[in-house]
Amino acid sequence: MVFNSVFTNNMNSCQQIDYSDYCKKRKLTELLRCPVCDLNVHFELVCQLSIDNNIYYTILQCPNCNQIIIQKCKSDDRETESECLEVYPVNRAGREFDDDLKKLSPTFCKVYNQALMAETYGLDEIAGMGYRKAVEFFG
Ligand SMILES: [Zn+2]
Repeated sequence: MVFNSVFTNNMNSCQQIDYSDYCKKRKLTELLRCPVCDLNVHFELVCQLSIDNNIYYTILQCPNCNQIIIQKCKSDDRETESECLEVYPVNRAGREFDDDLKKLSPTFCKVYNQALMAETYGLDEIAGMGYRKAVEFFG
């Protein structure tokens, strides 16, 4: 396996390309929430690594917690839409609900967060079932 490191600009200033512009160019859905600090942020694009023509990794830095986030992406060719396969690290903290809701339905909060974790792992069918299950606790 040959790792081909493609910096977005040059070695000295590889953060000059805006992440939003980059996503538009690669037709990639922009990641808006940091999986580490769980805030909506505007990520800084650090660089992109390609293993082959189809799979590439986008390395991002969160401006809030300064952690590095890695997006594994797939695109069949540069003209078609890119698909985000995985995001590292996985959000383990889950969503923090307010105390009233936690008291009213602790099971909802638990099931919702398990569904959220499944979604982060790319298990969309499991996540869908989880969200529907979570909503049932209000029925
Ligand atoms: Zn963060």
